[in-house]
Amino acid sequence: MNNLQTFPAPSANSFPCRECSAGMMHLRHITYFTWLGEELIMVPNFPAWVCDMCGKREFDERAISWLSMILNPNAGKPTSSPKRVPRPGPAKRNLPRLPLD
Ligand SMILES: [Zn+2]
Repeated sequence: MNNLQTFPAPSANSFPCRECSAGMMHLRHITYFTWLGEELIMVPNFPAWVCDMCGKREFDERAISWLSMILNPNAGKPTSSPKRVPRPGPAKRNLPRLPLD
C-alpha cells in the first residue's frame, strides 16, 4: 500500500544548475504546497532540487507527476500528450485572504 511518504527515487544526486550554470542542484526535501481546487495541499518531505549558488528550486519531475496522479481525481483516464512540469508563471491565483483584524 503506497502512501504519501513513498516517492519515486530521483535519477541522480546532483546536476549543474541551469539558471546560473555555476552552482549544483542538490536534492533536498522540503514541504511542497499545491492547490487542489479550493484546497491547499501540503506535502512534507517532497523532493526538490535546490541550487547551492543561486538558490533556484526545481521539483523532481517524476515526483510531481506522481503527486498529481495521486491528487488528480481523474487519474487513470486517458490524457493528451505528456506535459512538462508547470512552472509558476505570471498567471495569478485567487488566494483566499484571511481576515487580518
Ligand atoms: Zn544556480
